[in-house]
Amino acid sequence: MRQIFLLIVLFIVGQWLVKALRRHDAHTAQRTGAGGARGAANNGNGAARQPEAPQLAEPMIRCVECGVHAPKSDSVVVAGQVFCSAAHAQRHGTRPTGRDAR
Ligand SMILES: [Zn+2]
Repeated sequence: MRQIFLLIVLFIVGQWLVKALRRHDAHTAQRTGAGGARGAANNGNGAARQPEAPQLAEPMIRCVECGVHAPKSDSVVVAGQVFCSAAHAQRHGTRPTGRDAR
């Protein structure tokens, strides 16, 4: 009897986990893909509208410091320049550059 109860609980937890993961995926895709302002209007009950989140929706940026391409959600923008991380933004800011024309 106790084992049956355990099985049921496991099943429910599994379902909940899958649902939570899916919702998280859709949420991040919506946030990064829609560009911000449009995301709120789509928020009613359209959670099941996108069965799989497209990976290409997220724009990539190029780090000014190291040249690595990174997803925009992970990027840091300082003074109009895009970096892959805060560390690189700091390094770029502290290093004296003579070629910066502006
Ligand atoms: Zn970098």
